[in-house]
Amino acid sequence: MQAFEATNFYFDEAAGLMDITGNMRTMMINPDRELRVEVVIEMDNGEIGNFVGYRVQHDQSRGPFKGGLRFHPHVDQDEARALASLMTWKTAVVDVPYGGGKGGMNCDPSKLSKQELERLTRKFVEKIHDFIGPHKDIPAPDVGTDGQVMAWIMNEYSKYHGFEPAVVTGKPVELHGSAGREAATGYGVAIITRETLAKLKMHVAGTTFAIQGYGNVGSFTARFLHAQGGKIIAVTDAQGGIIHKEGIDIAELDKYVAAHKTVAGFPGGNSITNEELLVTPVDVLIPAALGGVFNAENALQVQAKVVVEAANGPTWPDADAVFKSRGIVVVPDILVNAGGVLVSYFEWVQNLQHFRWPLEQIQREQETKMVDSFKSVYELAQRKNCSLRTAAFMLAIKRVGRARVLAGI
Ligand code: NAD
Repeated sequence: MQAFEATNFYFDEAAGLMDITGNMRTMMINPDRELRVEVVIEMDNGEIGNFVGYRVQHDQSRGPFKGGLRFHPHVDQDEARALASLMTWKTAVVDVPYGGGKGGMNCDPSKLSKQELERLTRKFVEKIHDFIGPHKDIPAPDVGTDGQVMAWIMNEYSKYHGFEPAVVTGKPVELHGSAGREAATGYGVAIITRETLAKLKMHVAGTTFAIQGYGNVGSFTARFLHAQGGKIIAVTDAQGGIIHKEGIDIAELDKYVAAHKTVAGFPGGNSITNEELLVTPVDVLIPAALGGVFNAENALQVQAKVVVEAANGPTWPDADAVFKSRGIVVVPDILVNAGGVLVSYFEWVQNLQHFRWPLEQIQREQETKMVDSFKSVYELAQRKNCSLRTAAFMLAIKRVGRARVLAGI
């Protein structure tokens, strides 16, 4: 099974409980438009670098396409399609006026110089600038991209279309970015984790967590949970990981990561592999790296009570079934990591208004919106006696379907 098929499996689980015709289903799952572009640059050593860039525009019933750009060697058309579809459902779950899109480039940014990364980004924009825009399609950071990459996109786009900071979100605060955007996804993960634990009569304080991935999402999630008294006992990244049963000192870990660019080798813990992290005894397991992490085999060995999907698409459907049968609560990606697109929306609104909001307002509005979305999903799951994932998809499908019908097919 591939990633897009897995996303559609979850769509079908929810659509099966709703009144959706076959034609409506086809219309809702198929992407609107798919771009694939050759991106050729001169490398620092004078050789030619060949890359392929993708942008999948999945659905725009509720507003412009919206979603991240991923720079990673595994990026391909299917992955972009799956992630674009997830964005359609995610923007609907938290009710922001966007559709879903996603894209990326099959490159390894860790092997590129800053100059090569900039040339690659600008060349990609040169190829797709007519298809993106503040009211068409608004990219944002994802794995392997950050505020700097967004700043280059904004600048390159402006060469063709004039000053349009709202073409992209996740920009640096000094260049039309929003306060709170960098931390937003992790902040949202921590909010949804807190709300989920409250339903299980648990608190963040004293609860143990293991986090896979210590990039933007994983590290901010760790900081916010740690600040509430949560015990982060294990973290990993692409280079390795660490475990400390009494709880990792996150401030010290951050200093170490700033110097070494990895959590591996951190002296405040013992080393652990990624596979070991997934099955370590812990209350809450948070995948915050790539997709496709849980399969039927390792799902059987997971010892957590709760899986909070901070990454996009970490759970294959067969693993989801195992979690269900074992009574492990899975909080779905389209709800958990929606804080990123929520604050991206706030950034876009600020850019269009040419007016800045203070951090307190952004975090307050993010929290209100995420808690409300959690409640809607949780109550629907209770009412329909279904999983949180199925409830989240049902809520999203209803909103997207209704918009589509109201606008006219
Ligand atoms: P990032 O590039 O900042 O960090 C990714 C992290 O994952 C790094 O620590 C990397 O070392 C680690 N990693 C990569 N391969 C790994 C492996 N095989 N095992 C363990 N760790 C591995 O990316 P990010 O922005 O933090 O995104 C992480 C996840 O969150 C992705 O699934 C992304 O789609 C999702 N997400 C991100 C945002 C956002 O605002 N950045 C929003 C919503 C969802």
